[in-house]
Amino acid sequence: MAQLFEKAEKIYPRRVSGTFRNLKWAAMIVLLGIYYGAPWLRYDRGPHVPNQAIFVDLAGQRGYFFGIEIWPQEVYLLVGLLILAAIGLFFATSLLGRAWCGYACPQTVWTDLFVWVERFVQGDRNARKRLDDGPWTLEKIGKKTLTHAIWLVIGALTGGAWVFYFNDAPTLAEGLVHLDLPASVWSWIVALTLSTYFMAGFARENICKYVCPYARFQSAMFDRDTLIISYAHERGEPRGKHKRGDSWEGRGHCIDCDSCVVVCPMGIDIRNGLQFDCISCGLCIDACNTVMEKVMLPRGLIHYDTENNQEQRFGALRAGQLPPKGRMRWIRPRTVFYAAIMSLVGALMLGAILLRSETDVNVIHNRSPQYVRLSSGDIRNNYQLKVLNKTHFDRSYDIAVDGLRPKNIEMLAAGDVKVSAMAVPANTVGEFRVQVITAPVGAGRTPVTFRLIDRSTGKVAKHASYFVQP
Ligand code: SF4
Ligand code: SF4
Repeated sequence: MAQLFEKAEKIYPRRVSGTFRNLKWAAMIVLLGIYYGAPWLRYDRGPHVPNQAIFVDLAGQRGYFFGIEIWPQEVYLLVGLLILAAIGLFFATSLLGRAWCGYACPQTVWTDLFVWVERFVQGDRNARKRLDDGPWTLEKIGKKTLTHAIWLVIGALTGGAWVFYFNDAPTLAEGLVHLDLPASVWSWIVALTLSTYFMAGFARENICKYVCPYARFQSAMFDRDTLIISYAHERGEPRGKHKRGDSWEGRGHCIDCDSCVVVCPMGIDIRNGLQFDCISCGLCIDACNTVMEKVMLPRGLIHYDTENNQEQRFGALRAGQLPPKGRMRWIRPRTVFYAAIMSLVGALMLGAILLRSETDVNVIHNRSPQYVRLSSGDIRNNYQLKVLNKTHFDRSYDIAVDGLRPKNIEMLAAGDVKVSAMAVPANTVGEFRVQVITAPVGAGRTPVTFRLIDRSTGKVAKHASYFVQP
């Protein structure tokens, strides 16, 4: 049968050490530390309120992030956060290329961890290849079983950590120890364990190549001053094997050792130019620098650079001049544009957080009937009020209506019981019926504003509505 797709060759990245490998280890430790540790941070919000610093309380329909508490009505804050994250990513990409992909993307971080486990148990690149190509001996079965067992444990820890963000972490941990958790929590843990195991253990670079949409469109954020991984073609070519003591006259510095290829987690040869698969991890730089040190040539045959710098260097060399020192242009129209949008969205969000009210009021005018003419000749309009008390304390509110001179305002709680103030317990929504009575002052709609005055703080919440008269 005709083969529709080329079979993906398994990649066996070789161990490498150097500056960028160390950076990747540091990023992995910090990011995994944050992921696993964050649900355990506590933040005192007072009695009867969750004290988990970062907590998505699905049952209580609330999100907590340290001192910020987000109600479902404030979902625009999450939208703002997503916009900020997206523009932040565009900004970083326009400056540093695919630094996110190479150092911080969860797919990269977990794949790196899984490859480290594989290497720890089965050995480096050649040993792993030999093991895969060899028959199923007891040693192979043992090593493979141990590798997959550790992967599954990491997968379970990953899924286990995720559910802590949606439940009180210490309580959930106790439930986990006693295997006493709701089925929904178990199903999330199992789903995330298996997806981590599959994505980092098997799919690996194929997620970046074929699944991730960001890999496809991020070239739109690149320009000629974006940092990319570059092979100094003019210095490396013509390449060829080199023996100790051989002359470097008439040849390039690349000794065609393939070290840069075998360490690449994407399995590409950067000497063929920048490719869409390259995640800018810098491991080929470390590999080549090690080789250059061994053959006593300057480091940097492969390096981070920009297209503009490369072009200027080529131009100078062609003209027989000394190549200029490369420079980064951080401030460019594109980066300024992204920074401006980020600042704007950030300022809007900060303003929204600082100015958010403790009370929200929503007023709905009753439509049937729109008004009632009383036997006294006065006109009455009815309203439904929803009062959201976002504080952790019970509150009572007085009411005033601006734009009219009401003769009377009556507040009715559940069961149409008249009340002298609207009492709303902490963290809840109170529902009331309000009747506004006034002498006739003219036909049509009169705009009015409802003012709710918090009896304990004097703070005011407002909502616009209207009063209808015949
Ligand atoms: S590691 Fe450096 S010297 Fe070796 S093949 Fe790659 S570019 Fe050439
Ligand atoms: S070519 Fe180099 S920077 Fe690009 S993915 Fe491979 S090792 Fe990383």
